[in-house]
Amino acid sequence: MVIQSEYWGALRTLLFPVRCVMCRVPLWDGGGLGGLCPDCRQGVFRLESPLCVSCGRPLYELDEALVAQVSRAADELLCWRCEKQPVYFRHARSLYAYAGGLRELVHRYKYQLHLPAGVALQTFFAEGCMHLERDWGQYTYVAPIPVSNKRLRMRGFNQSWALVESIPTLCFHQREPALLRRREDTPSQALLSAQERFENILGAIEVCSDFVGSLEGATILLVDDLFTTGATAQACARALCDVGAQAVDVLTLCRGIL
Ligand SMILES: [Zn+2]
Ligand SMILES: [Zn+2]
Repeated sequence: MVIQSEYWGALRTLLFPVRCVMCRVPLWDGGGLGGLCPDCRQGVFRLESPLCVSCGRPLYELDEALVAQVSRAADELLCWRCEKQPVYFRHARSLYAYAGGLRELVHRYKYQLHLPAGVALQTFFAEGCMHLERDWGQYTYVAPIPVSNKRLRMRGFNQSWALVESIPTLCFHQREPALLRRREDTPSQALLSAQERFENILGAIEVCSDFVGSLEGATILLVDDLFTTGATAQACARALCDVGAQAVDVLTLCRGIL
């Protein structure tokens, strides 16, 4: 019987092999992290120290912040932008560079609604979270950065909530899908400059009425798929601080590295 089931297992693998989520080539070894083949995994890399302690921006050897602050310890480094401009969140961290196969997965999930790409992103996010030295129990709530109702209707899901659900170490009561909402349909951030993004989003985020009055002293973690200028995260953090939150952290799957 054992031989027979092994035979059928091998035949099934031959006839219906696991395929790369992106390019569909057969993965005879079952595939690596996120179900990607080696070619599609190229360019996927975790962001490691030295990072700006405030916004999580990678600080490379020639970065002016690193040159200017070479005497500071690695856990005190600030990028030039955060040095000049204080932020509302306590710190932001991104797990991966927005590049290579990960960038392609994000596009497929968000703009082509390719659900297997979403599952792959959840796998990457969960794996990245396991490598963070983080006290997950400190968070009163872990919530997604909200998307507009229009976009929610178009897509049918909030990709950031899918990421919150994939964090393996959270208690059920910490996950909160409706902590924040967009006050109005704002234009897409995608084609705006940094300054325009900030003006566009500031004031468009509000804390849902169910939570106003109950967040005094709360510590919140906000989750999103992509960190670009940080304008949306700033607006969310400010809305939460305005109603009494003590600290807001931001965690994103990836960020641009240029
Ligand atoms: Zn592939
Ligand atoms: Zn920074």
